[in-house]
Amino acid sequence: MRTKIVYNAVLGVYRMISVEEALEKVLSYVKVLEPERKPILDCLGQVLAEDVYSAVDVPPLDNSAMDGYALRAEDTRGASQSSPRYLVVVGEVAAGSMPTKGVRPGTAIRIMTGAPLPEGADAVVQFEDTDEVSRKSSQGDLLHIGILCQAEKGFNIRRRGEDIAKGNLILEKGTVLRPQEIGVLASLGHSTALVIRRPIVAILATGDELIGVAQPLAPGQIYDSNTYTIAAEISRYGGIPKILGIGRDSVQSLTEKIDEGLDADMLITSGGVSKGDYDMVKDVLAEHGEIGFWTVCMKPGKPLAFGVIKKVKGRKKRKVPHLGLPGNPVSSMITFEQFARPAILKMMGKKMLAKPAIRAIIEDDIVNTDGRRLFVRVAVTKRGGQYYASLTGPQGSGILTSLAKANGLAIIPESSKGVKAGDMVEVQMLEWGEEQGEVKTLPIVSIVGKSQSGKTVLMEQLITEFKKRGYKVAALKHSRGGMEIDRPGKDSWKFDQAGSDAVFISSPDKLAFIKNLNHDLNIEEIMPIIGPEFDLILAEGFRKSKIPKIEVHRKELGDDLLCSPEELSAIVTNGSLDTNIIQFPWGDTVAIADFIEKNFVRAVS
Ligand code: AMP
Ligand code: MG
Repeated sequence: MRTKIVYNAVLGVYRMISVEEALEKVLSYVKVLEPERKPILDCLGQVLAEDVYSAVDVPPLDNSAMDGYALRAEDTRGASQSSPRYLVVVGEVAAGSMPTKGVRPGTAIRIMTGAPLPEGADAVVQFEDTDEVSRKSSQGDLLHIGILCQAEKGFNIRRRGEDIAKGNLILEKGTVLRPQEIGVLASLGHSTALVIRRPIVAILATGDELIGVAQPLAPGQIYDSNTYTIAAEISRYGGIPKILGIGRDSVQSLTEKIDEGLDADMLITSGGVSKGDYDMVKDVLAEHGEIGFWTVCMKPGKPLAFGVIKKVKGRKKRKVPHLGLPGNPVSSMITFEQFARPAILKMMGKKMLAKPAIRAIIEDDIVNTDGRRLFVRVAVTKRGGQYYASLTGPQGSGILTSLAKANGLAIIPESSKGVKAGDMVEVQMLEWGEEQGEVKTLPIVSIVGKSQSGKTVLMEQLITEFKKRGYKVAALKHSRGGMEIDRPGKDSWKFDQAGSDAVFISSPDKLAFIKNLNHDLNIEEIMPIIGPEFDLILAEGFRKSKIPKIEVHRKELGDDLLCSPEELSAIVTNGSLDTNIIQFPWGDTVAIADFIEKNFVRAVS
């Protein structure tokens, strides 16, 4: 292929653009790939390209959910431990075989889990509720069985088609196939599925200083790590990496290598996109193509190239999107995550392109002097229901080991001058492992303070303010002295006295409930009861819980605080305290609400 330089002003040269604008542009140039049919086990993580209907009932027949005896519920009427009902055992049926006999009045058939229910039977009683074990140990006769409980019709029976009914739409086109969907396909008897194929992504490292792994290093050389990071990234998001190797910083070398990559669905290069280099990469990028060199408003990862290489082979034309990542290993992976990952997911037919993000308390100060969006390498841990993020070490864009220690990227917006330890930050999770628990932090903040300090007043003001802002707010109060509605003489009290485990009180516009407890609940136990629907929970009290707290301070009650400074997110005071925790004056509800809104309201992801 002879290269012809076509620089296209559409994509721009060194225009400063936002992360969103860059992503939008990249995504506008990649398309969902075509479907392919393949064995279900090779489809993990791929998107289903057809609606799947069931041609069978699952289970195919009524069958037993237990090992036990199939019988007629009627024959067990009144049965109990002390007064067994004896039935004649007329046979046995195992899973995988069909019953040869039916159950008639006064008889039972021994049955195994999954075995088809014999005709005439309408319930199964499990072994534990029969005298089988004692019969066996006492060498008793096994032609009879004592039933020790009364069975209802349908007891321990799995009905034909109860999981999947024949003819129904079971998996919709667009579904991402996880292990459970692959299992569902298998339970329908399918060995293959039609899925959007995986993209082949070619990778080219560029640089005269690079050498492949497992070779001795000559002076001035470094190992090419980007090829491996990027290849692993491609695989983990479902693509197929095609390694082109190392292109040297010469037009000829790059041209040859890039040509090898043009059968792929996308080409990713690393290096050679910073200002001094770009002419050369541009020169070799396309016979007919478009290429843009962008300054993305992010750090690391400012220089980024994106273009479309048009490959003409005979009369066939193909367009191959090309993403040119910066050479620094950290910049290269972080820009991959922001731009290549969504592009790969889009090609695979996925709709959810955003990384999971959480809100966490940052444990270090971070300054942002550049006015760019910072992606800061952090280790996120969960302690006491709250996420914390701490820096993993030096943040130089060549220091890959600090990315190896990280499981997330804290995002400091371009508009921010930085954050202080204790502030809430958004963290894009690189991995979302079991150890991190659920995706969302609890949208809760607690107002604490000495008695008579004005907690309740502040609560009232904040509730009014957040309702004005359109949020769904729940108030949660810890009341050491019990509850007013629970006082002697009230109906709620009478029901409680009568032994009810919980008392619900509902009226046309309110619902309350009282549950008896054997210990003071902590926040983790309370949250599921409150439910996930609220944008913000304002709690009063809960001083000992590990949730974010704002202390109300009243100078007349002394200069000391109820909580230790490390526990507090802010202080609201009618005086002024000598501490570096952020302080708000009493009555400035708007500023306090702004602070809470920024830091604690449920993150929308
Ligand atoms: P460049 O973007 O080509 O100016 O490269 C920026 C920095 O990243 C230089 O220090 C390169 O040595 C380094 N670098 C470039 N490509 C790779 C690679 N494939 N593996 C490791 N380091 C690289
Ligand atoms: Mg280079």
